[in-house]
Amino acid sequence: MKVCAFILGFFLVLAAGGLAPGCASRAPLQRFDYAQVIMGVRVNIAAYCENEVKARSAAKAAFDELVRVDNTLTDYRPDSEAMHLCDAAGQGPVPVSPMLAEVLRRAGEFSQASGGAFDVTVGPMVRLWRAARRAGRLPAADALDAARTLVDWRSVSVHTDASGENAVTLASPGMRLDFGAIGKGYGADRALATLRVEGVPVALVSVAGDIAAGDPPPGRPGWRVDMTERGPAVAGGPHDWIEVSNVGVSTSGDTEQFVEIDGVRYSHIVDPRTGLGVTRHVLATVVARDATTSDAAATALCVLDPLEHARFLHAIPGTEARVRLAGRPDFGESVTRGFPTVRHEP
Ligand code: AMP
Ligand code: MG
Repeated sequence: MKVCAFILGFFLVLAAGGLAPGCASRAPLQRFDYAQVIMGVRVNIAAYCENEVKARSAAKAAFDELVRVDNTLTDYRPDSEAMHLCDAAGQGPVPVSPMLAEVLRRAGEFSQASGGAFDVTVGPMVRLWRAARRAGRLPAADALDAARTLVDWRSVSVHTDASGENAVTLASPGMRLDFGAIGKGYGADRALATLRVEGVPVALVSVAGDIAAGDPPPGRPGWRVDMTERGPAVAGGPHDWIEVSNVGVSTSGDTEQFVEIDGVRYSHIVDPRTGLGVTRHVLATVVARDATTSDAAATALCVLDPLEHARFLHAIPGTEARVRLAGRPDFGESVTRGFPTVRHEP
């Protein structure tokens, strides 16, 4: 018995010291960091691994997976799979990849849970708001009316046949998908899953503000994630962080991207129910079971009236949120009970 206890103790000490569990060489884990620009944003990978060769090859596979996600979802290039699907809107079912079917299915779940506040068919409205931002002028009323008729998440149907082949129907010609509020989180999840398959589960992937955190770093309860507010609309703000593992973390709000027209600040996030950019200055951070969920949920919280937040969060189990008025930490903050403890920099 004593020998067993001693051996168990020995392995516990090894684990606490950061040795790779199940690793034949039992070399200590070291941290490696990699960065690339994909999806038009900076992607960072932090990985703990026994050696640099393995870490580099796993990170390369994760970046390649993100490129695949981008090639599937982007609306910045007409040749992505999603844009080909939009070109065939109103023409019946179109065969799609398992990836596109999966993202559309998940998007539909978030639309349902949010009553349409989150909606990947928001493309025609986002187009108008991007142009408004460039011109410094509100979209014309008739253009907004036309966009409103095309935006409806219920007009997307995803079918999978008995042999597992997927097809998607977009009901009306002119519909445009926009994965801006879910694609980065989904990409972070896929990259983290790839690192895990490559034997590197102690890793964190951040795709701009969307983070997929894997197993915790050696000797730590989790990965430290910075929650400090940034952007031109915020003067200072506290330096906040949380420590998390095996979750997704996303922050959405209008502190970085917005347009100010006639003294009113409109967010890059659009309320699909009205077609207008959100004017409530909200900053929402979500911690959820994965980054696909946190990404979509953080955007939905920016659109929903704060009175609707509890019902929405309840509809997505395991989702915690901190919602505050941007730049006003003294006012209007709400934090769900299971949200990780927010630590403040001394
Ligand atoms: P995020 O930064 O994750 O909150 O996503 C914002 C981006 O998602 C915008 O730049 C648009 O491309 C897209 N978007 C805007 N409003 C919505 C909405 N209500 N539902 C889904 N996507 C949206
Ligand atoms: Mg989002």
